[in-house]
Amino acid sequence: MRLVFLGAPGVGKGTQADRVTAQFGWPKISTGDLLREAVRKQTPLGIEAKKSMDAGKLVPDSVVIGMVREKLGEPLCQNGFILDGFPRTVPQAEELNRMLADRGVTLDRVINFRVTREDIVKRLSGRRSCPKCHSVFHVDFVAPKISGQCDRCGTALVQRSDDKPETIEARLRVYDEQTSPLMAYYEGKNKLSNLDGAGEMAQVYDRLAKVLVGLGAT
Ligand code: AMP
Repeated sequence: MRLVFLGAPGVGKGTQADRVTAQFGWPKISTGDLLREAVRKQTPLGIEAKKSMDAGKLVPDSVVIGMVREKLGEPLCQNGFILDGFPRTVPQAEELNRMLADRGVTLDRVINFRVTREDIVKRLSGRRSCPKCHSVFHVDFVAPKISGQCDRCGTALVQRSDDKPETIEARLRVYDEQTSPLMAYYEGKNKLSNLDGAGEMAQVYDRLAKVLVGLGAT
């Protein structure tokens, strides 16, 4: 199944995508993860992208489109994928349509995660992640067994530089201005399913899995 997970930063798209991958097997393509990897490796693209990311702004469409095109060509993505954090602008969505059309396929569904602004800010400001294995925790909701330490590999957890309060505000503004129009865009194409993203991770996943099974996922 070819899916897009849409929603503001902090709605839980990435965490839910990991669970879907574990159950159904379609790989997650997260442009945020790919960019953070480039930043970590200090590639020229990563050094350039870091400036936008730290300011809570989007990196240029051409950069992320190139990354997604490369990923979609990989054998692992031929039976489906979950795009997490892409597209984020209408031009990215249009380019995605072209990329898929070139391969003779279309998107099956766009899942739009909905969470109140208040909850989003709580989720983002308490988020901590492992720089080594990328496991994600939350100081209140998904606390690691030992405070500040990754349950999986023991590495010291960090707060993403763009999860600081000033940057959270900028990211939400960018979402409202540049990404939220995608709801109407996909609604107009009859591709959108809204999903209530409130509550515990497992509850949200139950709702999501029902939608996917309803779409024919096995
Ligand atoms: P995320 O992990 O999805 O919240 O992404 C972190 C940051 O990476 C964003 O705030 C943007 O600066 C950048 N980014 C990720 N995906 C995209 C995208 N599709 N278009 C532009 N910038 C992106």
